Amino acid sequence: MAEPSAAGAPCDVAVVGGGLAGITAALRLADAGRQVTLVESRPRLGGAAFSFPRTAAGVELTVDNGQHVFLRCCTAYRALLARLGVGDRVHLQRRLDIPVLHTDGRRGRLARTPAVPAPLHLSRSLAGYRLLSVADRVRAARGALALRSLDPDDRSLDSRTLGAFLGEHGQSPAVVDALWGIVATATLNLPPEQASLQLAAKVFRTGLLDHADAGDIGWAAAPLGHLHDAAARAALAAAGVRLLLGCAARRIEPGTVTVAARRGAAAPFTLPAPEVVLAVPHAAVDGLAGLVVEPLGSSAIVNVHVIYDRAVTDLPFAASVGGTAQWVFDRTTSSGLAAARPGWQYLAVTVSAADALLQVPSPQVQRAVVAELSALFPAADRAEVLAAFVTRERHATFRQAPGSNTARPGPATGVPGVWLAGAWTATGWPDTMESAVRSGNAVADALLARGADRIPVHEGAPA
Ligand SMILES: Cc1cc2nc3c(=O)[nH]c(=O)nc-3n(C[C@H](O)[C@H](O)[C@H](O)COP(=O)(O)OP(=O)(O)OC[C@H]3O[C@@H](n4cnc5c(N)ncnc54)[C@H](O)[C@@H]3O)c2cc1C
Repeated sequence: MAEPSAAGAPCDVAVVGGGLAGITAALRLADAGRQVTLVESRPRLGGAAFSFPRTAAGVELTVDNGQHVFLRCCTAYRALLARLGVGDRVHLQRRLDIPVLHTDGRRGRLARTPAVPAPLHLSRSLAGYRLLSVADRVRAARGALALRSLDPDDRSLDSRTLGAFLGEHGQSPAVVDALWGIVATATLNLPPEQASLQLAAKVFRTGLLDHADAGDIGWAAAPLGHLHDAAARAALAAAGVRLLLGCAARRIEPGTVTVAARRGAAAPFTLPAPEVVLAVPHAAVDGLAGLVVEPLGSSAIVNVHVIYDRAVTDLPFAASVGGTAQWVFDRTTSSGLAAARPGWQYLAVTVSAADALLQVPSPQVQRAVVAELSALFPAADRAEVLAAFVTRERHATFRQAPGSNTARPGPATGVPGVWLAGAWTATGWPDTMESAVRSGNAVADALLARGADRIPVHEGAPA
């Protein structure tokens, strides 16, 4: 942590919040020649996408707070990773290919056919999708065309739910559960019957139906902290950004930020900064700068982490239908387990839209998920569970219900010198890493445009 005397040195721009939005904004502004100070209340960068150490079954692991996934179409996030020098620390499928496992033992696969343009790239896979009856497969194809006809910029869609739309277009509950819900719940963190149709239109058009390769799935090959904390710190320092970690902004007034170190007895100090980018969660904005943002609510994500005494699946990940688990990821290598205990396996199970699970005691959640894993992977039934634990993120994303997308503010505020960024701001994307990075780019663009010295967005993500 920097000493207050050095920490309080004047800068051109103070960025408050060191999640992906703040990291992006700070880097862009520093690259454009601005003196930037980044103030982050936690002792690390990365915000909502982070890792922590945890000993499980006697092994020191690096655990992600929640499995994070991106798509090939997440060009801004991928460009940020490239800028941070960690573009090669992720897996990105050559072709969308999702094994879908039902707890009743049925198996399906959603994959795109190579060299076939959208939207036909999914037709072959849909025609053979064993989790749906033949009649439902035909319904699903009609549903895809209906979703493709939606305009993500049409604000009237934000007054309706995805579930109502799918029902109006003949999508049976089976199609919703075994197809549209797999994608929608993971990306919107709400079930289809509660999610904004406008945000769903963005997900399905941009992520799946407009371009054949858009939905190829990516995920971190290293702990999130390596990408979003260690690599970001190094890149920010190299760009000349002054980092104040463990320091919270308490008040923002024209030209100054009052900052307090979270640990230690140091008195609050002022940071002179003519421009301030607030890249904090929406609930943290109120009261900081006299700004009031519309409440956006939140929805939870729960992860269940299970360590087995042997390998129970060779799939890197799978979607799951018919129970509590929604996605299962193999984190054996990235967590450090493979190196410490060759032959063991670490599966991380994601449950999105998990508000109801918040009240359920962890042992009960673990038991339910471990039983489901035995149903999904026969080898798991014969394996010993060496450790299991639950991580809960109560406010994982804003509540992406009807009305929420329209309520998101842009980067400019009515307060001179105060700007907004964050995955929750008006990027058009759902509350995701891509949205966070886009918001950081947008605020940097807006701020720099005033000085008439716009700089190009970080390029570098491979097509
Ligand atoms: C469990 C989980 C799973 C997820 N899965 C996915 C996924 O698969 N794919 C995907 O794309 N997205 C996923 N997300 C969403 C994604 O993590 C977020 O959209 C994104 O990281 C938000 O970034 P941000 O910079 O906007 O905000 P945040 O990451 O929330 O950063 C805000 C920062 O501001 C800091 N701060 C707050 N108040 C102050 C203050 N007063 N002074 C200084 N600092 C302050 C906070 O400490 C925080 O570091 C998931 C989120 C969670 C929690």
